Amino acid sequence: MGTQLKFYEWKRLLSWRGAADPLTEKARGALIRSLYHQRTALGLGALNIALSSTAVAFLSGNALLYSLAFLLSSIAILRIVNARHLSRRPENVDPRHLEYAYKFGAFSFSLVLGLTAAAAVSLDISAMAQVLIISNAIGYGIGICSHNAARPAIALGQLTLVSTPLIGALLLHGSVAALFLAVTIALLFPAMFSIVFSIFGTLRSSLLSADRSAALASKMEALALTDPVTGLPNRSGLESSLPEILGAGAEGEQAAIFWIDLNRFKEVNDLKGHEVGDKVLKEIGSRLSRLIGDRGIVSRFAGDEFVVACKITDRNAASMLASMVLGEVRRPLRIDGDRIEMGASMGIAVQPEDGAIAEELLRHADLALFEAKIGGRSQIRFFEPSMTRDLAHRHEIETELRLALSRDELSVYFQPIIDLETGKIRCFEALVRWFHPTRGEIVPDQFIPIAEDCGAIVTLGNWLTGEAARVAAQWPHDVNVAVNLSPLQIKAPGAALGIISAIREAGLAPERLELEVTENLFLEDSPNTASFIKEIARAGVRFVLDDFGTGYSSLGYINQWPFSKIKVDRSFVSGKQAGRKSDAIIRAVSQMGRSLGMEIVAEGLETVEQVQAVRSAGCTLGQGYHFSRAVPDYKAALLLAEERGLPEADVRRRIAV
Ligand code: C2E
Ligand code: CA
Ligand code: CA
Repeated sequence: MGTQLKFYEWKRLLSWRGAADPLTEKARGALIRSLYHQRTALGLGALNIALSSTAVAFLSGNALLYSLAFLLSSIAILRIVNARHLSRRPENVDPRHLEYAYKFGAFSFSLVLGLTAAAAVSLDISAMAQVLIISNAIGYGIGICSHNAARPAIALGQLTLVSTPLIGALLLHGSVAALFLAVTIALLFPAMFSIVFSIFGTLRSSLLSADRSAALASKMEALALTDPVTGLPNRSGLESSLPEILGAGAEGEQAAIFWIDLNRFKEVNDLKGHEVGDKVLKEIGSRLSRLIGDRGIVSRFAGDEFVVACKITDRNAASMLASMVLGEVRRPLRIDGDRIEMGASMGIAVQPEDGAIAEELLRHADLALFEAKIGGRSQIRFFEPSMTRDLAHRHEIETELRLALSRDELSVYFQPIIDLETGKIRCFEALVRWFHPTRGEIVPDQFIPIAEDCGAIVTLGNWLTGEAARVAAQWPHDVNVAVNLSPLQIKAPGAALGIISAIREAGLAPERLELEVTENLFLEDSPNTASFIKEIARAGVRFVLDDFGTGYSSLGYINQWPFSKIKVDRSFVSGKQAGRKSDAIIRAVSQMGRSLGMEIVAEGLETVEQVQAVRSAGCTLGQGYHFSRAVPDYKAALLLAEERGLPEADVRRRIAV
């Protein structure tokens, strides 16, 4: 903005009230407060005037001049006292109040000074005394004009009040010199007018632009702390207000951090589009905000994560609140006519046990969430110190696992699956083994979840399928190989193609490969899963439902997908719950299998009795230590060769008949 002012702006500025001033109140306040700056200079000026007017009165001995000098000094003292009083806390004083106070003092002082000078001119006193007071009056008029340029009406008003009585007195005096002096003083008006407005323009535009950049900065700051989708605070927003929530609360009050991660959100996004995804986030965000109210803050972190920081009374309360939060997330959403169901996992850290400062609590809540996610869907986990150790262990395994493949530490072992009619090996299940140079053997249950979590399962799975297929290609054609497939492998791009090309390279007929999947795969109901299964099944590869009975055991999956076998989980055979009840379950599943044309495999057969039991319950295949543990490829080949050389009766002895 230029410093040049337009005519209509001058008019407005010079108006007595200054009400239509285009300045914002803040800038206006700053300008008014600037009137009170340089109090020392103002004080000295007032002292100077008081002294010189008193000197002139003393020199002339005139009573009028004495009274005027007294009046001037009194006004000066009052103004100094008032300025000190008001400027002690200028922010608390209304700017208009400041302006009126200043105006009153300034105008009265100027007028009395102008009248004193005029009186000195009109009275018959010494020329030098006249010079003294006139020069002081003019000097004051000019000086105060520049000083008060922030409020032009005051500046020029003071100049007018000082000089008009003086000019009048000079004109009345009638001498040529007095006339010239009157004209000279009058000429000060246009000069000071221009100076005042030039200073005012500069001041005003710099104040306005400072004001504007301050407003912009605070707007930017607010934006940087807010998540645009939900309108909730984002990570920085939460972090900036955390200290307040975590700070000392009332007696018996604690704070807790709830880190919430939505399940399946990515699929909603992929399937229904980002707009629906955004609406889901927004709705969940507002549900959580309503639930938490002013007890804490709800924020949205990256992607599908929400973090709630909240005051609580104790761990029990935290646990209850966590269930309520999950309840809010699970309540079905209605978006654009669609019913969407969401779930979430949650990690919780409670102050002060799990950390005193925000950063530590957040880290621990995140760690607890990580454990919750590993543990399965929709879990709530409180932080425990052991999680830190587990995490370190997990990290180690994760890095070593990536190296294990290249270092040849992984092998494929094969466990036979036996026909319960003939006792012959019908299939081998390929099971991975990790022989670590220093840790010894690491069991799959320990590293498969980690491999799934860090994505290494895709490489590992592809490698294993290739190896298993290569080995199986050497076996007799009526012996199949089964490979375990993690749901994550299926999600990887080109998963189906990877498997098909692995068996093609190995020269294994697709019908001889069986892919073992668990029900977890179908929980997510993703279109990827469906197209993967269709593509693979079209190529001739078979599917086996693994660990049946441990998950949801929905018969819907069995009906919907082309399984050739169902494997009843080993807990029904040799586990703690094995017994009459599980026997009945195995019977029911076998019956169903028979009518659907599927084979039923009993896992975990360790004793002859178990073999007999599952066979009489209707299982057609069996797997377990009773027959053989998982063995290396050469041993598997040996088992097959041995079996081919034995008379059928000896083979049948395996199944105790
Ligand atoms: P699973 O698919 O249920 O595999 C069967 C597990 O039961 C194997 O454990 C096997 O050694 C064990 N087992 C076999 N017979 C008996 C028995 O009579 N008694 C008992 N107590 N256990 C028996 P393993 O090899 O430790 O594998 C554990 C799990 O790790 C597997 O369960 C499977 O879910 C996973 N896994 C193993 N190898 C792979 C793999 O290559 N890829 C994937 N994705 N997962 C694998
Ligand atoms: Ca399996
Ligand atoms: Ca199994």
